[in-house]
Amino acid sequence: RKGNVIITGASSGLGLATAKALAETEKWHIIMACRNFLKADRAAKSAGIAKENYTVMHLDLASLESVRQFADNFRRSGRPLDVLVCNAAVYLPTAKEPTFTAEGFELSVGTNHLGHFLLSRLLLDDLKQSDYPSKRLIIVGSITGNTNTLAGNVPPKANLGDLRGLAGGLSGINSSPMIDGGEFDGAKAYKDSKVCNMLTMQEFHRRYHEETGITFASLYPGCIATTGLFREHIPLFRLLFPPFQKYITKGYVSEEEAGKRLAQVVTDPSLTKSGVYWSWNKNSASFQNQLSQEASDAEKARKVWEISEKLVGLA
Ligand code: NDP
Repeated sequence: RKGNVIITGASSGLGLATAKALAETEKWHIIMACRNFLKADRAAKSAGIAKENYTVMHLDLASLESVRQFADNFRRSGRPLDVLVCNAAVYLPTAKEPTFTAEGFELSVGTNHLGHFLLSRLLLDDLKQSDYPSKRLIIVGSITGNTNTLAGNVPPKANLGDLRGLAGGLSGINSSPMIDGGEFDGAKAYKDSKVCNMLTMQEFHRRYHEETGITFASLYPGCIATTGLFREHIPLFRLLFPPFQKYITKGYVSEEEAGKRLAQVVTDPSLTKSGVYWSWNKNSASFQNQLSQEASDAEKARKVWEISEKLVGLA
């Protein structure tokens, strides 16, 4: 049978390019988990994804209620779940004030981390039950959360501190909207959320890999300077960023190439190692990359996991 893969945020950028790459193999049915049903359906059609290879299902990661409904709806569809890709993200680098999810969490961490945390916890049982030979849970990371790299050292740097803001619920009322308890900074909130994504992947690996055989992985697909992720940025930045990445840092990767990379992490028989953060070199060969000290701190991973469980109502 075909594999069934859920991709969050498959309506644009990396998610859409990955859906396209997988659909072209004719070996996958893609469940596009998106907040805008019409946009997702239009995107699939214009990417040339054949009708029989995809289903759009509504998911708004900025609402835990919606995450729970999505999990129920998916279960009712009767499809097995073979691979889950947590890809969607918001990035709000120019926001002066924080905005919040339905439950009142700062939007970047609430969407990118807490929404995906609940989603993957709820769907873990579905993955366990699948009889697919290589089951995987993939959480898209980023180099920006990696302070051991040049790009990860551009200020503001990711830093989760002692997690006091997260423990306080990131509400901006009784606690800071930032994980480390500091002043709101949209670019930092995004980077912090990506560190949480990478910590969560490793904690999943420690808790569930042996018991379930599921491969847990994260990746940095390269700098895809053309995606919607930078839509909130100032116009001059959006104009200069792609050529800067292309010619100066040389980290630039096209959406198509990035989609092929993530598709490899979904299906490639040689990428089954669990607990790994994948990157690609200049020749587009994959390698197992090092994470920054904070993004590989097992004690912090456990704490983020436990606090997140409370915030999303699992503990
Ligand atoms: P895009 O903005 O193009 O795609 C983000 C996707 O997330 C969109 O489909 C968007 O939906 C969706 N999304 C946002 N909020 C929600 C929500 N509340 N519920 C459901 N879906 C939501 O960005 P990219 O493709 O660049 O980003 C994809 C991933 O790649 C992210 O995890 C990002 O961190 C990562 N990444 C990107 C890099 C880059 O250089 N671009 C580099 C490294 C990592 P909609 O279409 O409705 O807006």
